[in-house]
Amino acid sequence: MIGIIGCGASGMLAAIMAARSGCKVTVLEHNDRPGRKLLATGNGKCNLTNEDQSGGNFRSDLPEIAQTIRGQFSKEELLGFFREIGIPAHCRRGYWYPQCEQASAVVTALAEELRRLCVRVLYGVDVVRAERSAEGGNDGFIVTLNDSGITRTMRFDQMVLACGGPAGDRLGQSDFGFRALRSLGVPVMRYQPALVPLVLERTGVDANADIAGVRLEAELTLVCGTDEYREKGEIVWTDYGISGIPVMQLSRYAAKALNDRRDVRITVDMVPDFTADEIYQEVMSRRMNPVFTERNASEALLGIVPEKISNWLMTRAGISAKEPFAKTSEAGLARYSEDLSGLTLRVKGLRPYAQAQTTCGGVPLSEVIPETMEIKAVPGLYVTGELLDVDGACGGYNLQWAFATGAVAGRALGRRNA
Ligand SMILES: Cc1cc2nc3c(=O)[nH]c(=O)nc-3n(C[C@H](O)[C@H](O)[C@H](O)COP(=O)(O)OP(=O)(O)OC[C@H]3O[C@@H](n4cnc5c(N)ncnc54)[C@H](O)[C@@H]3O)c2cc1C
Repeated sequence: MIGIIGCGASGMLAAIMAARSGCKVTVLEHNDRPGRKLLATGNGKCNLTNEDQSGGNFRSDLPEIAQTIRGQFSKEELLGFFREIGIPAHCRRGYWYPQCEQASAVVTALAEELRRLCVRVLYGVDVVRAERSAEGGNDGFIVTLNDSGITRTMRFDQMVLACGGPAGDRLGQSDFGFRALRSLGVPVMRYQPALVPLVLERTGVDANADIAGVRLEAELTLVCGTDEYREKGEIVWTDYGISGIPVMQLSRYAAKALNDRRDVRITVDMVPDFTADEIYQEVMSRRMNPVFTERNASEALLGIVPEKISNWLMTRAGISAKEPFAKTSEAGLARYSEDLSGLTLRVKGLRPYAQAQTTCGGVPLSEVIPETMEIKAVPGLYVTGELLDVDGACGGYNLQWAFATGAVAGRALGRRNA
């Protein structure tokens, strides 16, 4: 009997693949339904995978092993699998979604396939402990679960830990998997939120800036000591710092650097389609132009970035909004245009797991057999999905990873029990 802890993305794939090979499978899920996190993916549309499968999108300390694992369940296979269970997909700007754009259809199709294959799924059971049944032996695993207040145990010959990480908000997420792995003697690297907004140091003038909710296109450079990472796209200023897809993409590098106690800064170019010189010329030329010199500073500088941002940067530059633009100092305007094309703030931290989409860190890939997802030091124990040291970029990479690792584990269990 195979026990799978977690009826999420990777657990369902593992169960389906093992059951298709004739294995008896029981899935234990503490939510009252399957795939709650899956339902929330892609804003309810479920971004299944991405057209661009290049390795840099699957971030890990051991990317070559991640590549070996992914190669066994490619994007094409994933799309083929979903088509087979009634979910054709379509690609929008490189992002693959179910044709119907409903995550609920994906979850229903997976759950129906589990039912067709007679996989036993127990909902509302919280697994609280997982241990080997005979210390050091290959005699299977005992899991202790809380079933509506009643504690009971189950024994499995092989066990898949597919219980994801702590990222997400009220989706059933937990760090049980990491705790269970450590108690089973499996090394777990420090794990942190990833694909998460950043908390910035904003003191003095910056602390009082009324910019929460303002969105704009920007180019970001994250500087962690001597390392630099860049992203471009729409950002959102918030009361704690900064959010948006490009920020989320950079967050795992900030997480690692903060963890190493390195100084982390982010430079925000809020006018990425102009060079710094072009912006300086634009601002300075207004000062010579009677169309603008008759206005006050706030009015004269309108039109380059949203007004709230402009007002904030004016305050930073010592420019008073109401002062006649003709009297605004050149030094102030130079500082204003400098900030427009490269405002640097210190990154203080990350927002909590509730605002994260995934976890970085976890089980080092050197601990698993890449062809099976079995833990080398604990025969019979398999690990999938977010528990492993791979965090994908935004764009379907985390689900591709979860589905691929689930499929590899499920097929390996099928071969083992054939
Ligand atoms: C809001 C949000 C949006 C996202 N959007 C996307 C997207 O569009 N594309 C993408 O690629 N990725 C996306 N992700 C990331 C993706 O959802 C995860 O990486 C993926 O679901 C991880 O799969 P998993 O199988 O490891 O874990 P999960 O899918 O989280 O499944 C784990 C399951 O285990 C259960 N469980 C946990 N602990 C226990 C326990 N002790 N006992 C019993 N059951 C337990 C949980 O309830 C859960 O059902 C998003 C994440 C979030 C939070």
